[in-house]
Amino acid sequence: MARILYVNVPSEGHVNPTLGLVKQLVENGEEVVYMCTEEYRNKLAQTGAQFLPYQLNEEIFKELGFSPTEVKHPLQFTEFMLRGIIQPHIPEILRLVKNESFDFVLFDSMFGWGGHILAEKLGIPSICSITHFVIANVPDFEMPSDAIDLDMDALRDRITNAAQEIGAEYNVDVPSFEEVSRQIGQYKLIFTSRYFQPDADKLDNSFIFTGPSIIPRQDAPDFPFEQLRSRYEQVVYISMGTILNKDVEFYKLCFEAFKDIPAQFVLSCGKDTDLDPLGDCIPHHFIIEPYVPQLEILQRVDAFITHAGMNSTSEALYYNVPLVMIPLSSDQPVVAKRVEELGAGIALDKNNLTPELLKAALLKVLNEASYKESANRIGDSFRDAGGYQEAANRIVSLFSKV
Ligand code: UDP
Repeated sequence: MARILYVNVPSEGHVNPTLGLVKQLVENGEEVVYMCTEEYRNKLAQTGAQFLPYQLNEEIFKELGFSPTEVKHPLQFTEFMLRGIIQPHIPEILRLVKNESFDFVLFDSMFGWGGHILAEKLGIPSICSITHFVIANVPDFEMPSDAIDLDMDALRDRITNAAQEIGAEYNVDVPSFEEVSRQIGQYKLIFTSRYFQPDADKLDNSFIFTGPSIIPRQDAPDFPFEQLRSRYEQVVYISMGTILNKDVEFYKLCFEAFKDIPAQFVLSCGKDTDLDPLGDCIPHHFIIEPYVPQLEILQRVDAFITHAGMNSTSEALYYNVPLVMIPLSSDQPVVAKRVEELGAGIALDKNNLTPELLKAALLKVLNEASYKESANRIGDSFRDAGGYQEAANRIVSLFSKV
């Protein structure tokens, strides 16, 4: 039996894909100590791992003035990693585990170079788990950049200072700017398939693709599934994820676009979205809920209108659902582009969205068989990759080698 430390960031998108893997590791007889913030305790309870919370430094996020979902330039992400994640949180994590001993650490890629430092300071091997596409390690990969109003010199100075402070504190070599997010150790576990990963031929076998890790969620809310096909033959699901979901104007645009489409629509509008401005203009063929059991819904729908978050997209494709995508930020444009390239959906520009364009895209995806066939192909590649069972086996076999 191995004793494994798993360190993650407090984000649904980074925690959800790890649940199946952790549960499987525990079922295989490994002991897992999972570190995240207190609000993730319940989510982790279903895995059987021991939960060890660390405190999120909210002050530093305020000081940085942006979240990873608002990044306009790749270097801003590097700053977020250094000043928002590594500097405040690695010392606390090390303090909390100082009397524990582990054989192995799994860390989320948001820790980047910090995960590497953590493993070095604990004196144990590591695997980095990646819940999005591998971007940093693909040479010449172009991250979308919209940095018109950024002071790049000041940004570079802040990054240099933070990196040097970290290097001095832990007595480790300071990597170049580009290497901060690439220094993620020898082994990388990616929750997607090689087929779906762009430029996968540039990634060697140290990148282990085991497909999305999808397990039933115990915190899934109730939903009136019997209403889904009671009036219409087709069902369309709309969700812009859990973060950037408060744009009520977008929901109004959906009402207008789909007012004459004879299908049942389900809209997940977000737990903190104020629906008052919608008044009584909600069409009769819409079910609107703050949060829905997405995995169960996706198994029953014909199309999904999404912001192309990596999790939502992977979950939909896992269940062979074609997509209409309106990417908003971070890696969403890259995900949407890849889905479009593989023929499983249509991406629309959020800045030029009209009811007519949205309606036309949905009708195409619903009525042209090629979208569904392409979604099936990606879904097959996900299922063939082996999922969390394969991930747990691979980790253990790596572990017994080291
Ligand atoms: N989700 C859910 N019910 C909802 C909305 C979202 O279960 O009503 C889950 C969804 O299944 C996915 C995650 O929340 O696992 C959203 O992650 P994603 O990467 O798609 O978007 P983000 O919320 O990070 O923008």
